[in-house]
Amino acid sequence: MRELFSIKTTYLDSAATTLRPNFLLEKELEFARDHYATVHRSLYPRALVATEGYHLARRAVQERLHATTERGIVFTKGATDSLNQVAQFMTQLIGSEDEIWISPIEHHANYLPFLALQQKGQLKVRFLPIHPDGALDFATLEMMDTTHLKALSIAHVSNVTGVEQDLVRLGKWCRQRNCLFIVDAAQSIAHTFIDVEAAHVDFLAFSTHKMYGSTGLGVLYMAEHLLERLEPIYFGGDMIRDLSQDMIFQDPPLKFEAGTPPICQVIALKETLEWQKGDSFKEARAHLPSICQIYQEQLGKMPGVRLISSPNATSIITMTFADLHPMDLALILGNEGIEVRSGSLCSIPALRYFEANAFLRLSLGVHNTAEEVSLVLAAFSRVHSKLR
Ligand code: PMP
Repeated sequence: MRELFSIKTTYLDSAATTLRPNFLLEKELEFARDHYATVHRSLYPRALVATEGYHLARRAVQERLHATTERGIVFTKGATDSLNQVAQFMTQLIGSEDEIWISPIEHHANYLPFLALQQKGQLKVRFLPIHPDGALDFATLEMMDTTHLKALSIAHVSNVTGVEQDLVRLGKWCRQRNCLFIVDAAQSIAHTFIDVEAAHVDFLAFSTHKMYGSTGLGVLYMAEHLLERLEPIYFGGDMIRDLSQDMIFQDPPLKFEAGTPPICQVIALKETLEWQKGDSFKEARAHLPSICQIYQEQLGKMPGVRLISSPNATSIITMTFADLHPMDLALILGNEGIEVRSGSLCSIPALRYFEANAFLRLSLGVHNTAEEVSLVLAAFSRVHSKLR
């Protein structure tokens, strides 16, 4: 699998962004160089071919998410853009006394857009009960007063603890309470196969750069019952059919895709999705949980290390240290070609929740191997004891 990527270092930061396979880069370049044209507008043959490629990529996303139609597959700029649009949709769907519940360790992208609305008095944000590893505490949830609950938004896989939420159970719980179910799939989309219908998902957001695709592109899945009801957030080219007194919008998803999209990146995404259907990807992905377990066990034993990641995490290992700063460790390891992440992981709420000032995170991708583990652990242990 490693041969698909031109990587010379030991890259352990796939939760921030996954490496781009060479075939993706080649497809993007080939399309940009040899076939480039706009989509949905012009009628010359190359433009029609580009439009067809764009359409096929959308269909591949639909298939990947098990969505019933392509109408709810909206291309965006990324997970952050998708979640900001969802927050704006909330102002059309719920009122100022209504509540959206999120977990207390969400990524800023799944918190700040809603917090900003709360600050303007447009809705209320409440925190979901969680276990110490970030898994939703259903027993406590069952006892909570849901009178004002109108929406629930949570990361499928946490970028801090790596815990995976049970989407089907949670979706059912939301459906029974008539509550909109919003899923931040930024961390899960690379290595899990989500069924939005089975999990009764209303909105689902992700970025393609975290699933071995390109930057600058994301997806917002929206359930069919929302598509006609919602007004678009962005207005501009290609999203209206006619204009008189009123704007007559295009049918979804074009209604939600104002402006020229990242055409090359969308077209190349189909290559990633095709590859992920194959056995080689599925086998590489299947190795990640055992590699993750070894890291958790070995790093968790080191003096002064407190594991923050869930014992059930499958690709994320997060920790804090009693007597050194994670950034020092990350900096030295980086200079030795071992690339790990340090800092807040874009979740100051999680820092507060775990009473930490910074995290260190290793995150796995399909290019990582069991063979490199001992090398990483040896370097880690050496630098760790030197810094203490
Ligand atoms: N949600 C989660 C859980 C994430 O990990 C990230 C990226 N770190 C995002 C949302 C935002 O993704 P992007 O920066 O690609 O918009």
